[in-house]
This record gives sequence, C-alpha cells and structure tokens, in this order.
Amino acid sequence: MDAEISLPDRRAGLDRLGRFAGALRAVFGRLVDVALPHLCASCREPISTEGLCAVCWSKLSFIAPPYCERLGIPFPYDPGPGVISIEAIADPPAYRRARAAVRYGDVASTLVHGLKYGDRLDPAPLMGRWMANAGRDLLAEADAMVPVPLHWRRHWARRFNQAEALAGIIFKASGVAVAPAALKRMKATPPQVGLSQSERALNVQGAFRVPPTGLGEVAGRRLILVDDVLTTGSTLDACARALLRAGAAEVNVLVFARVVAPVRPPI
Ligand SMILES: [Zn+2]
Repeated sequence: MDAEISLPDRRAGLDRLGRFAGALRAVFGRLVDVALPHLCASCREPISTEGLCAVCWSKLSFIAPPYCERLGIPFPYDPGPGVISIEAIADPPAYRRARAAVRYGDVASTLVHGLKYGDRLDPAPLMGRWMANAGRDLLAEADAMVPVPLHWRRHWARRFNQAEALAGIIFKASGVAVAPAALKRMKATPPQVGLSQSERALNVQGAFRVPPTGLGEVAGRRLILVDDVLTTGSTLDACARALLRAGAAEVNVLVFARVVAPVRPPI
C-alpha cells in the first residue's frame, strides 16, 4: 500500500510541475494557462495567478517615499523634499543616487538566491518590473544600464549573470539600453558574505575596469548600474569609480533589494 506523500515530496513534485508548466508556457504561451497551476515564486505553493502567494506577498516590503534622496534609504516619516540620510553625509558613495524595489528580507532573499544560481528564473520578470518601477526617475534620465559583471570564470561556471538578466527585463519595461560589455571584472573576488564594510571595500578595490572596447559606451553618458542586492554598497561603489574614471557623466544604482537597518531617522 502506498504511504501518504510527505510534505517535502509534495513540494518537490509541485516544483517539478511548476518548472514543467513554465517551460510549456514559454513554448505555447497563454494557451496552457487554464490547465496548469501557477506556483508562488517564493514558497512554490500553487496559486491562481502568476507571482507570489498572499503569505509571501505580505512578507515582501516594498520601498516607497519618503526616502533619502541620495541613497534611497527609507525614512520612518517625511522630513520634506531633498533631505538626505546620515549615511549619505558620513560616507558618500561614488554613485549619485541609489534606488531599490524592496527591503532585503526572507522572501527577497529566496527570490535573489533562486535567480543567482540560475535554478529559478520564473520570478525574474516580476523582479525586473518592480525595479523598473522603483527606478523610474533614474531611468527617465539614463543613456544606458550597466549590469554588475561577474568574473569570466564564475560566469562560465554559472552560465548566467543575474544582474544582466534583470537589466534585460528592465530594458523591456523602460526602453533604456543595456551595455553589458562596458565594465569588466578583473579579479575573481571572494564572496563578500561575512566581511566587514572596510574588508568588503578592500576586497573589491581595483576589481572592475572599463575595457578599451567599452569606452564608447561609457564616456559622457549617464549610466545606471544594475545588481540584485545592495548590502554595504562596496561592490557598486567600486563599479561606479571605474565608470567615472572612464569618463561617465553620471552613475546611479538600481537594485532589486537593499539591506535596511530597522530605524533610519532623517537628520
Ligand atoms: Zn508563497
């Protein structure tokens, strides 16, 4: 007699079904929507429409004004237009402005990890659309987007750069071109996880360069660096420095999620 199907088995089964449904949708478009279930992009529970289930949705924290005009760090109350955060004054980054779609938390990290390791690409369109929305002001003034590059060895091993995938979706929503060859990662830096802010900055120092073939994409242009997560901003700062050294007119930053400390009073 068959034993009852355990929850992990059921989840794995649903996950396989979801991927199969995703593949079929890619081939046959909306025709198969009636027959196949959608799965929540985070917890993989079946849902009636594309996106997130109600529980995961409620855990996702979108960033909206009021926030620091410079770094996009949310403020607990509105201090008036143009006010910037303590962080922006104490340690101003090389990039001019940063915007993020959501605060980094449980659901955001599940979406980011699924994308980073290329095993769950179905949430990418959703994440890219939220980013296009959060970065609307930056995109309106931009000449091109530059995805944060992986070192070629890591790119080869993963066969996928999540920042490039997100930039591709933002392009569809905004029409702002992607310049994937504008910036190169020269050093295969160890992961930033577990490092202090100064260690992170040292880790990525000199890691990025604009190659001679990328100069035309950079010089005199207003650029947006695109990445999945902003933690301390060290990587994005190193990228912005390289672009500005190569003559970029302005560099801004657009990420899916940013780490936000619990309370950020404006000054
Ligand atoms: Zn869910």
